[in-house]
Amino acid sequence: MVLVDSLVCLPVPCSRRTLVFSLANTAPGIRRRGGGRSRSSSSSSCGRGNGDSSSSCVVVLGVVRSGFAVAAAAVAPGLTGKMMKPVVDKAVIVGGGLGGLAAAIQLRKIGIDVQVYERNMRMSGGEGALITLFPNGCQVLNMADPQIMAKIREAGIADKVACIVDPKNGEQESSWELNERMEKTYGQPSVAVLWQNVLNILSEAVPDDCKYMGYECLDVSQDEQEATVHFKRGDEFISVKAPLVIGADGIHSIIRSKLFGLTPPRDNGRTMWRAVIDEHLCSDLALKVGTISATGNGRTIFIINGVGGKLYWAYSLTDESTDGRSKVRSKDAAEMKARLKQEFKGWDLALKILEATDADLILERRVLDIPVLKEWSRGRVVLLGDAVHAVTPALGQGANLAFEDGLELALQLSSASDLRSALEAYEKRRITRAKLVSERTQSTQRPQSFYDWLYTAIPSSSPDQVIRA
Ligand SMILES: Cc1cc2nc3c(=O)[nH]c(=O)nc-3n(C[C@H](O)[C@H](O)[C@H](O)COP(=O)(O)OP(=O)(O)OC[C@H]3O[C@@H](n4cnc5c(N)ncnc54)[C@H](O)[C@@H]3O)c2cc1C
Repeated sequence: MVLVDSLVCLPVPCSRRTLVFSLANTAPGIRRRGGGRSRSSSSSSCGRGNGDSSSSCVVVLGVVRSGFAVAAAAVAPGLTGKMMKPVVDKAVIVGGGLGGLAAAIQLRKIGIDVQVYERNMRMSGGEGALITLFPNGCQVLNMADPQIMAKIREAGIADKVACIVDPKNGEQESSWELNERMEKTYGQPSVAVLWQNVLNILSEAVPDDCKYMGYECLDVSQDEQEATVHFKRGDEFISVKAPLVIGADGIHSIIRSKLFGLTPPRDNGRTMWRAVIDEHLCSDLALKVGTISATGNGRTIFIINGVGGKLYWAYSLTDESTDGRSKVRSKDAAEMKARLKQEFKGWDLALKILEATDADLILERRVLDIPVLKEWSRGRVVLLGDAVHAVTPALGQGANLAFEDGLELALQLSSASDLRSALEAYEKRRITRAKLVSERTQSTQRPQSFYDWLYTAIPSSSPDQVIRA
């Protein structure tokens, strides 16, 4: 078993164990180029300057007893380190979801002029979903900006309690303090928070003039000098050029299909129903604040209660266990609710929660994923987040992994000698980790050593540090 002993936070000299991470936002030596709303840039800086060793901020790796490198120190003004000039001066990010916005924050910090193009007219996503950010994702956001983590803690709940209850009567069968152990062991909490709230907090950290709303990406092309992204906005067709294009356009990524051909999401043979409702509608149930699994007959209603006055529930059925019944799509909201009522027969607690849920708020979705791709980039175009490794919600790691991708990409862009080397190093490091997480998401075999690795090994721990318990 891997024991995480302690996080060491020391300013050590630049070595394989030290990440030097410059902050353009706070460092006067770097100026953003090509800012504003110009829609094209033909800059193609693939070379790299010698860097500027003026004052900047460093992320220093701590070392845990297991040997995993953990970026423990938040970027803090006052620490000294080398300022590295990134290998590109501009990047276009397609997709303003959790992964795209988090990457924008990381890339801006190393001095890259970032433009995020989102097809929706406002940053929105995750209808009917609460997500849990685990210590690995929280660590990355905290390193990006401790203010972001502070806001997320405020908007969500650091899981007060986790418990298993009887779905018939709500009687508690077991309970434990999840967060105390998380924070003590891994240095960061697990926080349950509304998806939209995380999106808002990340979006606030990206200036408005970097965000382009209502741009639907149709295609991407590239030559040796630059990549071109083709958008449709209303009746207009717009092309944008940049030396680096990042596809953060989610599970149905158009950028992925343009790079690697059609790779449709995989159906996991399961349908999930979920909703977010006002917590007060269930106040008579006296549910605890935290994560509640109501489990009976091998099936579970998963509940997160008390997040910003909301209650989230989710229930899923496999095709196998239902002779394909779960595959059948409900005709409308009323039929969906009636169907769930049937499913929950005899489960008073579940029925009361269902009763309190407006049928129109219930989402019925097949559970999809994207098996981790073998390649994540071609030329000047690279993928991150669900576009390249969508995982099912079983481990709650999709967004957490996307945050890690953004940090790793920034680290490589600010430390490699040219763009291709940066993207290759990014791919190599991320694929190993994403593959293991994806495999474990599909399996029920998850020993403690896996969680220790998952919650502590953050970007730039090398692939050979991946252990299999
Ligand atoms: C029910 C549920 C629960 C989950 N729970 C958790 C959890 O607890 N913890 C966790 O870490 N993860 C969880 N996840 C997964 C997590 O939400 C995703 O992994 C995460 O949102 C991925 O971020 P992303 O930016 O890569 O993709 P997305 O969030 O999907 O963002 C993609 C963005 O790209 C935009 N876009 C798409 N196509 C185009 C185009 N052609 N042009 C322009 N823009 C485009 C979209 O509008 C969207 O804004 C959950 C997912 C679900 C469905």
